[in-house]
Amino acid sequence: MKDRSVTEKSGRSRRLTADSFKFDCHSGVACFTRCCKDADMYLYPYDVIRMKHRLGMSSDKFLERHTFQAIRDNPYFPNLMLKMSDDDERSCPFLSTKGCAIYEDRPFSCRAYPMERAVARTDDENGRKILYFVAEDSYCLGHKESHEWTVEAWIEDQQIELFNDMNDLWVDIDSLFRRNPWGPQGLDSPALKMAFMACFNGDEFKKFIFETTFLSRFDIPRETADRLRESDVELMKFGFDWVKFFLTNTGPLRVIRAKNNPL
Ligand code: SF4
Ligand code: SF4
Repeated sequence: MKDRSVTEKSGRSRRLTADSFKFDCHSGVACFTRCCKDADMYLYPYDVIRMKHRLGMSSDKFLERHTFQAIRDNPYFPNLMLKMSDDDERSCPFLSTKGCAIYEDRPFSCRAYPMERAVARTDDENGRKILYFVAEDSYCLGHKESHEWTVEAWIEDQQIELFNDMNDLWVDIDSLFRRNPWGPQGLDSPALKMAFMACFNGDEFKKFIFETTFLSRFDIPRETADRLRESDVELMKFGFDWVKFFLTNTGPLRVIRAKNNPL
């Protein structure tokens, strides 16, 4: 899973960690907030939910004001990136004189650093193996601090577990996009734009569900519809199911069998 890195060549190394690592980040380190400037930062669907709530704006407005799309590691689907300010240092727009102004809702990349997590699919009963890495950037002096963390303690301290759960759901959808499901239209495919909306733009997706013929075409129980009205996380999960349905015809969504339903 991608995280963030500063744009300049920073001398990054990455090592597998089975047990513990030394690290600490606090206002006393000489590099404090260095990583919040000129950063190349990926955002995930759950990040958008947390940040737009924190900022009190719609997902549409958040995407327009604070993000851009770029083709990076997947040639068939754009990554969502955080837009830096256009000051000389290209600072993160959420950087204040005291540090991160949205700290409790900072995105996954910021909270997980320096830990990186990779999920490998396996054939055993768990179906997956999780590997943890520690990234070391030469500008980051946190690695010289003496505080020792186990992987578990870091996950707990940074409240990463919920983000991991949400990002695991996203990885399943992202892997569908990596198989180029768009046909000859490629990146210009209207289906790609719909998929992007369902994954990242929950407020627009909600309008699509409740302000079009959607509910007359899909068999959605009333309790599910109520949950989608109330919870952005449920909406995101439903968006993933919908993408799975229209790209692979699998998953829990069911169409209503009626003569006038085109599906
Ligand atoms: S969101 Fe917060 S922690 Fe992340 S780069 Fe911006 S200011 Fe720094
Ligand atoms: S210690 Fe590392 S993570 Fe913390 S502010 Fe410095 S560069 Fe950023």
